[in-house]
Amino acid sequence: MSYARVLCVGLVGVTGHVVEVEADLSPGLPAVVLTGLPDTALHEARDRVRAAVVNSGQPWPNRRITVNLLPAALPKQGSGFDLAIAASLLAGAGELPAGALDGVVIIGELGLDGAVRPVRGVLPMVAAAVRAGVTRVIVPVGNAREATVVPGVTVRAIDSLHRLVDFVRGGGALLDPPGRDRTPPAAGPDLADVAGQELARYALEVAAAGGHHLALFGPPGAGKTMLAERLPSILPELDDAAALEVTALQSVAGVLPPDGRLIRRPPFQAPHHSATMAALIGGGSGLARPGALSLAHRGVLFLDEVPEMATATLQALRQPLETGRVVLGRARGSTEFPARVQLVLAANPCPCASPAGDQFCTCPPPVRRRYLAKLSGPLLDRIDITVTLKPLSAAQLLTSGSAPATPSAAVAARVAAARSAAAERWSAGGWRINAEVPGPQLRRPPWRLPPSDTTGLRRALDRGLLSARGFDRVLRLAWTIADLDGRDRPGRADVEEAIQLRTGETTK
Ligand SMILES: [Zn+2]
Repeated sequence: MSYARVLCVGLVGVTGHVVEVEADLSPGLPAVVLTGLPDTALHEARDRVRAAVVNSGQPWPNRRITVNLLPAALPKQGSGFDLAIAASLLAGAGELPAGALDGVVIIGELGLDGAVRPVRGVLPMVAAAVRAGVTRVIVPVGNAREATVVPGVTVRAIDSLHRLVDFVRGGGALLDPPGRDRTPPAAGPDLADVAGQELARYALEVAAAGGHHLALFGPPGAGKTMLAERLPSILPELDDAAALEVTALQSVAGVLPPDGRLIRRPPFQAPHHSATMAALIGGGSGLARPGALSLAHRGVLFLDEVPEMATATLQALRQPLETGRVVLGRARGSTEFPARVQLVLAANPCPCASPAGDQFCTCPPPVRRRYLAKLSGPLLDRIDITVTLKPLSAAQLLTSGSAPATPSAAVAARVAAARSAAAERWSAGGWRINAEVPGPQLRRPPWRLPPSDTTGLRRALDRGLLSARGFDRVLRLAWTIADLDGRDRPGRADVEEAIQLRTGETTK
């Protein structure tokens, strides 16, 4: 027998594809040829595999070795193929019994000493194996916990090539994956900590209930970041499918917590305003990493000090926010990551950012205008709710100490009730939250509001206070306000309140 075949999984973006690793050993000049679109890391794999085999005490077959990765058209990146390559060529050389690894997916990077190292993206790789009908996987011990998150698969862990050889020959055992961490996950920040800012708290609740994008303006110290960080605490937990998506993205990024469980809380990402394009959008050499935009998928993307961000960066956010996914141009084809986020923007009212508020501003008017102009256009047009926070006075801070603010759990219950009312109403169209409902749907019977209730809205449109897109955004907000209030459709007062939330000219 001079031919063998072993299964592995390759990743494109966050999607895994089962890859067959074939090895053929033929007489001729000793050499190793890798085929099937390998990238640089795969060429390096050749040297790693040779050293690992020899240092594991196995004879290196001095023949012409061809290793082929199928399907050839699939771009293959990363170092996760090492162990499968080593196993296939040892089996092809007759060092391992034929057929012993049939129907098993083997994932892992090899060190020169034969140790098996963890790789990024094991969770989506194992999920792909299960989808393809494979129910047994062997993964690096450092990745075994995340692999067990996938239902319907038997996970065995491995720490060295030597152990794999022993196991296949029938002389040794593989390792059990480490047990799940049973301690409850640490609670995130809670709305009970936010003093005052009644209007901003209400805006946050509306944003959570309808899935609306939010902008917070105000001086430093007014609590913009505190509020944004607490948005995930009032959003519903992720369902199974969403939790698997979010956990898989963290696995590919290599930032998955080691406790080995599905991420159930909507994620929160707050990239710095000077973050590089790769950090924000994703990229990097070899196996592409998702950026903050995709790590915030199904959760909250918080952009603080937006006017300080580079124009090119703001432009790059535009398309993903529209389509809900990031497309990265790569040397071979393109890679896609999901990026369906709820956006929270924050900005100081001007560059001098006086904590006491606008009356102490020292900025010349043109500087102030230029600063805010940066915000307008692509991003601000997508914002549903604008709130200007006032500086907190000492009196507010003191009184808030005596009357604790409503905790996140109570707000989350109201948000959940409003969301289920919306989901039921829109179930025929397949929309779950008001933010997803297309504008025309809201302007047609039976959902069109009576003209008497929308006079203010039409006046705002005529006076140029609102764009056509803004008009629809106000309608969606009005529905969310009614949902939170437990009424089955919005009235005139809800529309007025929605206009105020949208334009930021609010009196509440
Ligand atoms: Zn200023």
